Amino acid sequence: MKITRIKAYSVELPLKEGNYAWSGGKSVSVFDSTIVEVETDSGITGYGEACPLGPAYLPAYAGGVRAGLLELAPHLIGQDPTHIAPLNRLMDAAMKGHPYVKSPIDIACWDILGKVTGRPIVDLLGGRFGADVVLYRAISQQSPEEMADKVAGYRAQGYRRFQLKVGGSADVDIRRIHAVAAKLQDGDRLVADANTGWLMHDAMRVVRGVADVDVYIEQPCFSYEECLSIRRHTHLPFVLDEVIDSVDAVLRASNNRAMDIVNLKISKVGGLTKAKLIRDLCISLGIAMTLEDTWGGDFTTAAIAHLAQSTPPELLFSTTDFNSYVTVSTGEGAPQRRDGRMAASSAPGLGVTPRFEVLGKPVLDVD
Ligand code: MG
Repeated sequence: MKITRIKAYSVELPLKEGNYAWSGGKSVSVFDSTIVEVETDSGITGYGEACPLGPAYLPAYAGGVRAGLLELAPHLIGQDPTHIAPLNRLMDAAMKGHPYVKSPIDIACWDILGKVTGRPIVDLLGGRFGADVVLYRAISQQSPEEMADKVAGYRAQGYRRFQLKVGGSADVDIRRIHAVAAKLQDGDRLVADANTGWLMHDAMRVVRGVADVDVYIEQPCFSYEECLSIRRHTHLPFVLDEVIDSVDAVLRASNNRAMDIVNLKISKVGGLTKAKLIRDLCISLGIAMTLEDTWGGDFTTAAIAHLAQSTPPELLFSTTDFNSYVTVSTGEGAPQRRDGRMAASSAPGLGVTPRFEVLGKPVLDVD
């Protein structure tokens, strides 16, 4: 089997809430997502998606996905998409870094492999655990009272895990965490995610100010060293996210006991192949995970579900259903939330069929 053509579609994904705000005053109202289509000489076609959280979150931006694909795609024409390891080696040889460019191609190749073998990707990633996976809901940064109301509302929709976007003023963030914690019930889990937004003195004040709250602290500061310093000064459970982008990063952080949980995003590490490698390493090391991506719609949510549901439940802290945050559906068959949980498709591959009327004309076409 050979790759004969690679196309990309650009889709705008507006947020149902109108806006998503996180640390440092950063926000997005319409996500710019890229859906990649990999055609083969056997008539089987695979799909993948990459959707950076705007240009100011990770070193990634939506136009960069398309520019990178234009650079990378000619190297991939004629390659066998079911030989995923050699294909990843080839992508890494042809382009240094830029994992978010490679991610949708890698996902599309898993989609093709699933369709060729007649198996859902969750089976190919190791096999399905249980009936479904537990979701968290991200709570956009607002006033403490508004965030507490949002948590109560999403709790009524079935979510039991909440990730508060903090990383603003330490004083307000302490109030945000207390206001939300007051709304929680037994079994709920609360994460305060600063998304690198605090300086060390801010973070020290926050972890002291919420020391009596049952809350996880996620990526308080920009650098690994700053985060490690805060970790060593708090008894609260600790999550690393933005600095965990490779096997090396996980090994260093594990050796330093720098966190209890890592947040692993598919496009941050370059696709399902590398996410599986790091996921399996974390399983071996006893490190629980939030498995997700930077953002996306139906294709991203499907890829997340396959990765999450092939992970032992006790090591899956949470995952997320981005397709429920946005007003546009790009494909049929994607996971749909039920009572704060979702399940990977049983159909071959990702299990998502594109809605071409939504995708429109391709913005990139290489053959
Ligand atoms: Mg995070």
